[in-house]
Amino acid sequence: MILFFGIRPDKTHCVELTDVICPYCQNTDTLSAAITSNYFHLFWIKIFKIGTYKTVICSHCKKLYDQEDFSESMKIALERLTMEKR
Ligand SMILES: [Zn+2]
Repeated sequence: MILFFGIRPDKTHCVELTDVICPYCQNTDTLSAAITSNYFHLFWIKIFKIGTYKTVICSHCKKLYDQEDFSESMKIALERLTMEKR
């Protein structure tokens, strides 16, 4: 019997970060976050969530922030968003 399993990314959610200043161009409300969750799958059925990958992009200066480049206010805004979803 052949088992199909592995890691698959789920849909990417885009959310706007309000009241957060872009550390690069100093504009407010120009940042949006892309959140992608990865799942472990077996026969393409989601078994469990492995982790989420987040990036933030500024619509004004087009700067892309990786998770390690997030400012404190970005982290707070993202935390607030994930809290609201529950
Ligand atoms: Zn910017």
